[in-house]
Amino acid sequence: MKRFIPETRAVNVVKRFTCDELVELLTAYLEDVLDRPSHDGVRAHLSCCEHCERYFEQFRATIRVLGDQPPEKLPAGVRDRLMSAFRERHGG
Ligand SMILES: [Zn+2]
Repeated sequence: MKRFIPETRAVNVVKRFTCDELVELLTAYLEDVLDRPSHDGVRAHLSCCEHCERYFEQFRATIRVLGDQPPEKLPAGVRDRLMSAFRERHGG
């Protein structure tokens, strides 16, 4: 008997992330250290999720303002503020 697995088509090509997972991965994404399926998954999510796309733009802009520092050097306060701004707008 064939086992029923939903959405098998896309699973091996691009990883799917929830918005929360995506936020956690943005730093790695900007550093270009994700593996290919994750990297493509983040990009795919950003292209179809308005909230995360806007958050990503804000995240990148903030890093630029701070003077091209690597994202991991982002002060914890700035990161927290972005996170909570994102969560508020996202409704939880
Ligand atoms: Zn999202």
